[in-house]
Amino acid sequence: IDHEFNRLREKLPLWLQENRRFCRDGKVASYIPELSKASGNHLGIHIIDASGRSLSAGDCGVAFTMQSISKVFTLLLALMDRGEEAVFDKVGMEPTGDQFNSMLKLELVQPSIPFNPMINAGAIVISSLINGSGPAEKSERTLQFFRLLAGNNKLDFDNDVYRTESASADLNRSMAYFLKDKGVLACPVDEVLEVYFKHCSINATCSDLARMALVLASGGRDPVTGAALIPRRYVQIAKTFMITCGMYNASGQFAIQVGLPAKSGVAGGILTLVPGKYGIGVFGPALNPKGNSSAGVRLLETLSKEMNWSLF
Ligand code: GLU
Repeated sequence: IDHEFNRLREKLPLWLQENRRFCRDGKVASYIPELSKASGNHLGIHIIDASGRSLSAGDCGVAFTMQSISKVFTLLLALMDRGEEAVFDKVGMEPTGDQFNSMLKLELVQPSIPFNPMINAGAIVISSLINGSGPAEKSERTLQFFRLLAGNNKLDFDNDVYRTESASADLNRSMAYFLKDKGVLACPVDEVLEVYFKHCSINATCSDLARMALVLASGGRDPVTGAALIPRRYVQIAKTFMITCGMYNASGQFAIQVGLPAKSGVAGGILTLVPGKYGIGVFGPALNPKGNSSAGVRLLETLSKEMNWSLF
């Protein structure tokens, strides 16, 4: 392990530099107006090992919104609040192969439950399952849970991103109305969407993602204090979704090229982990056509091949 960590320390800056050119292959997301302000040239990575030692390279001081990465952790919170049976009564376990915001398959199965909790429809349903008397309490509980996992009490919502997303979310809104009509959503559409947009807008840096990932890599334990934060079974469920649907409709390709559980978001973040060993946060806002950080994915391919990290 020490040998591995030393090699990482030595090579990480070089591997980051080599993969920077792939920023040019991508485009910064603009469908949420606020996201288009990000610089497409940024690429950063932060890695924490199980003993808490960390390494970073590139533009890892820049904060960004977690967007879809947050779906992994709201799923975990809903599982802890409601249990496995109640959650999978409302959302399925299968990848779609479609885009994250697609409505195509919603009508395919009866009852009309979303295929999985990583696509928007599924994550919107998950938001409705988080305990709390109303949207404000649900959002606050979500934020506190994220802070606990990141070991960072400063984690907070980006209200500009929240507001501009909420104001331009006709597609997510129509999806939520559809689910409400089918009886899959128990609460009012506006309340569920408030919780959903809020957790997507939580601001983080690569080191926050790495720390949250390390809890998953450690089977739900805080690797530093040893405290059990998430039941192991739920971590297993979350990591399985990360493998099968964490990288949008490029999840199969990512499993072949990198072979690690990962979740990406449209702001350019990728959270990934090496089980038992490392939590990793990557940031590169220029996205490839499948919606994943173009240089971020390339950097992880390099790391996985050089370090022999693929689980398969
Ligand atoms: N808030 C974003 C949306 O619902 C999340 C998308 C993503 O990161 O994939 O469109």
